[in-house]
Amino acid sequence: TPVPRALLRSNVYYSTAGPSTLPFGKDAQHLQEWGPTSWRNLEARQQPKYPDHQALQRVVEKLAAKPPLVFAGECRKLQARLAKAATGEAFILQGGDCAESFTQFSADRIRDAFRVLLQMSVVMMFGGGVPVVKIGRMAGQFAKPRTANTETIDDVELPAYRGDIINGAEFVEDARVPDPERLVEAYNQSASTLNLLRAFADGGYADLKRVTEWNLDFMSKSDEGIQYMELAKRVDEAIQFMEACGMDYDTPIMTTTEFFVSHECLLMHYEEALTRQDSTTGLWYDCSGHFLWCGERTRQMDGAHLEFMRGIGNPIGVKVSDKMEPSELVSLIQAFNPENTPGRLAVIVRMGAAKVRKHLPALLQAVQASGQIVTWVCDPMHGNTESCNGYKTRRYENIRAEVEAFFDVHEEQGTVPGGIHLEMTGDNVTECIGGGASIEETDLSSRYHTHCDPRLNAEQALELSFYVASRLRQ
Ligand code: PEP
Ligand code: MN
Repeated sequence: TPVPRALLRSNVYYSTAGPSTLPFGKDAQHLQEWGPTSWRNLEARQQPKYPDHQALQRVVEKLAAKPPLVFAGECRKLQARLAKAATGEAFILQGGDCAESFTQFSADRIRDAFRVLLQMSVVMMFGGGVPVVKIGRMAGQFAKPRTANTETIDDVELPAYRGDIINGAEFVEDARVPDPERLVEAYNQSASTLNLLRAFADGGYADLKRVTEWNLDFMSKSDEGIQYMELAKRVDEAIQFMEACGMDYDTPIMTTTEFFVSHECLLMHYEEALTRQDSTTGLWYDCSGHFLWCGERTRQMDGAHLEFMRGIGNPIGVKVSDKMEPSELVSLIQAFNPENTPGRLAVIVRMGAAKVRKHLPALLQAVQASGQIVTWVCDPMHGNTESCNGYKTRRYENIRAEVEAFFDVHEEQGTVPGGIHLEMTGDNVTECIGGGASIEETDLSSRYHTHCDPRLNAEQALELSFYVASRLRQ
């Protein structure tokens, strides 16, 4: 029988995890053989083959001398938030581009993605009644794992595009040669992205009194835009009521927001160069982003990615498809989170709607039986990719069905749905089919801008957040 949500929320054990919690101490057993370069002794999949190794080495040294992008204390704060999400006392909203790009980089795009995430979080907080932890797939989400090493068009075969941090998307031979200078450009773009995000989060933009101003212009007439405005007005009224009661509005809780950044920990030279020892705890943190995840294609037990990630102090995630066996998952969790620290590890499930119902129950049972504490996150994107009219796309109804299945299975098993991981944008793109916006198969060509996987547009993302809110409320 399912454990009632209220009971889970009152679990004292988890709520003792304060913001200063460490994932493990600096003398932890599993760190004995670990160092920021120990991954080099193992096979690292999905890495580019740089033609000039000395050029790569020079870039790595240059990056190693640059300031960290994020700080250990911020990562620990996120760990505490993830621990709350493991018990249903918070919910994770992680979203952004599949791949950030050098050419589509602008302040307006960052602002629009940020404000859709703010809108979604208000919908989920007000509608669902839980704090929402906002994590962008931003400021470092450049490297892409590929299923095939090459791409063939009209009998011409070239190396696959692996993300702007590695090579160019253009289908010409020169562009596809991995260039180490791209690591520096990715670092610089991440630094300015993060700088703007920090300004938006603390500088007044995220002030809850602006809740009605976050609606994007092109959404003002859409169903989701209108539904959002109705909710925003109620939030506004609630604030006015609380002020009338004498509450002092002017606190950071109301006028600022917490915003974290994340990306796939894929390109090992970049991650190693930004890994620094924290002076207060002696732990090593990968200061390229607050939260890093291990992709479905690079999570081998004896691989370089697992070796690197098991030793860094950041909160981390691992993507899991239907290929995962329950016993393998238990071993993987043990390796990533040897001290079973709440908030250390998120398991990001990406199976496709039907497969979640079939395969997730056994994974949940095995993890529960072993006493492991993880934050379960739903990625409803990567198990639902299909091809249509020559475009890689996803159908809104399948994405929503996977979210629905995720909540249903957790309810049946008495476990906790802790968050959602989306590929989305604040732009008015036509990359995913369906939703209230009713993007048809024939619309895909009109505004298909992604460099990699198809993203939910602002309306579709907002629509999904209303559905999540309805499930959180139950
Ligand atoms: C991704 O998140 O873009 C990705 C490649 O995911 P996965 O590792 O789950 O395929
Ligand atoms: Mn993707």
